[in-house]
Amino acid sequence: MPDNRLQELRAQVDEINLQLLELLNRRGRVVSEIGKVTQEMGRSFYDPQREAQMLQMLEAANNGPFSNETIKALFREIFRASMALEESQARAKMLVQRKTDDDRTVITLPDGTEIGNGVFTVISGPCAVESYEQLDEVAAALAERGVKVLRGMAYKPRTSPYEFQGLGEPGLKIARQVANKYGMFITSEIMDKSDIPMFMDYVDIFWVGARNMQNGALLKSLGQLNRPVILKRGLAATLEEFLYAAEYIVSSGNPNVMLIERGIRTFEKWTRNTLDIGGVAVLKLETHLPVIVDISHSAGRRDIALPLARVAKASGADGLMVEVHPNPPVAMSDAKQQLTIPEFHALMDEIERVEIRV
Ligand code: PEP
Ligand code: MN
Repeated sequence: MPDNRLQELRAQVDEINLQLLELLNRRGRVVSEIGKVTQEMGRSFYDPQREAQMLQMLEAANNGPFSNETIKALFREIFRASMALEESQARAKMLVQRKTDDDRTVITLPDGTEIGNGVFTVISGPCAVESYEQLDEVAAALAERGVKVLRGMAYKPRTSPYEFQGLGEPGLKIARQVANKYGMFITSEIMDKSDIPMFMDYVDIFWVGARNMQNGALLKSLGQLNRPVILKRGLAATLEEFLYAAEYIVSSGNPNVMLIERGIRTFEKWTRNTLDIGGVAVLKLETHLPVIVDISHSAGRRDIALPLARVAKASGADGLMVEVHPNPPVAMSDAKQQLTIPEFHALMDEIERVEIRV
């Protein structure tokens, strides 16, 4: 007899489980509707006051046997699941989100060169423009190896205000002249949206550095241009924050955005940053934008450039970025990580050896 009773009670539990399942999913659907309404109203989905109210209501209505604490803990879990559902639905709607397997943004430069089309792109140049001769010497070597995008950095976001800040507009002029000489394209970091009109005279690709990844005003302004933008991941930005930063540019009207993983801050001291290669693989799944690996700032040292270049190419990234200087020890910035010209050639030989399937 007790056996029958047990089976009957278990059948009741099974039935209740199914009812709970149905109710939880019904709740999920209603919560999604709320997400749409709050979005239309321009309001945040998460409302802490509303959450507190719901918990109070549940506490008042609770007749046991579960304690109020247990009920609140269970419902907090349900609220968390609703938030996660809402977040994943919001992400799926993002313009930068990859929707199908063959969904990819291909950026076409003025001479027809494509970035993001499955061919591994190398972006290179010195950390900063220091003189015409310095940039010319580097560009000549890069052009010889088919590099099309030249770093022409004239505004340097340095940690100390007393360090070299870049040559400013004269540096951009040098960059333009050198790029024209070799049929290359200039990318240069912009730190302030008020510089956009001046930059338009010199640069082919705007560059947003790690420290400005969340400069919404700058991102929105670059979104109104019809020139490509390179966006670097912030020093401690999550991948989600990185993609939302790219979304600022794309949703403002400019679809030509490339992402650069440049290492994130961790406890490790033997490298300047930690190259998040797993993050690169995740970005390739999550977004259709080209993803480039910065093997210079992520490492902070030139002696590991080759293995990082191999990893970058094998990771499925669309390219890599590396700093090259005619005489790195006397460079005005990032002396420890810039490659010499012979080291750059060795790196290119190495990259050419790594086979990839795309
Ligand atoms: C750079 O690439 O020029 C640079 C300054 O790097 P980051 O913004 O990643 O620090
Ligand atoms: Mn640098």
